[in-house]
Amino acid sequence: MDELTRGVLRFEKNIYPERKEFFDKLIARQYPRALFITCADSRVVPNMITDSEPGDLFTIRNAGNIVPPYGEALGGVSASIEYAVMALGVKHIIICGHTDCGAMKAVWHPESAEELKCVKNWLVNGKDARKRAMAKKLPEERQLQEITERNVVVQLEHLRTYPSVARALAAGKLEIAGWVYDIEHGKVLEYHAEGDEFRVLRV
Ligand code: ZN
Repeated sequence: MDELTRGVLRFEKNIYPERKEFFDKLIARQYPRALFITCADSRVVPNMITDSEPGDLFTIRNAGNIVPPYGEALGGVSASIEYAVMALGVKHIIICGHTDCGAMKAVWHPESAEELKCVKNWLVNGKDARKRAMAKKLPEERQLQEITERNVVVQLEHLRTYPSVARALAAGKLEIAGWVYDIEHGKVLEYHAEGDEFRVLRV
């Protein structure tokens, strides 16, 4: 904890004063460019991988970058999506999974999370992803990546069940995207519905 406290003191002493003008612009309200839904994994740092700043990304994080289908689990995720779309008017929503994801490993081998009751319950939302990935009968070394990718696709489908999202999409006011961040290579793959596959992200 001491390390984090010292970090805060460095922020207060150095980083904040150095960028005071920038932080002043954030005082009264936020205008985030996107809602970024990603895993709670400590190695995924949304602002770093998108080279963006405080104020740019409204973020939802949880184990496995899960979006429960609308109505099934009204709670923090659904309230944050609704707020981002209706109150903040974000123009983009990105669901971003990542490689070596502990949650996806638990989806892959549910018996490994037997003791973790809350995790097990939560990852029910990843069951479809496992089913779709395993149906492809891929070699074992490819299965975790496939589950991770299919999970992003399934969560994108869940996202479309939110009335606020469906309305904004129908009005052409919102774009949604699915990404997988590759920790080993520092690359992001993006989902393409045509072809139903993930490809290296391009502008
Ligand atoms: Zn993860």
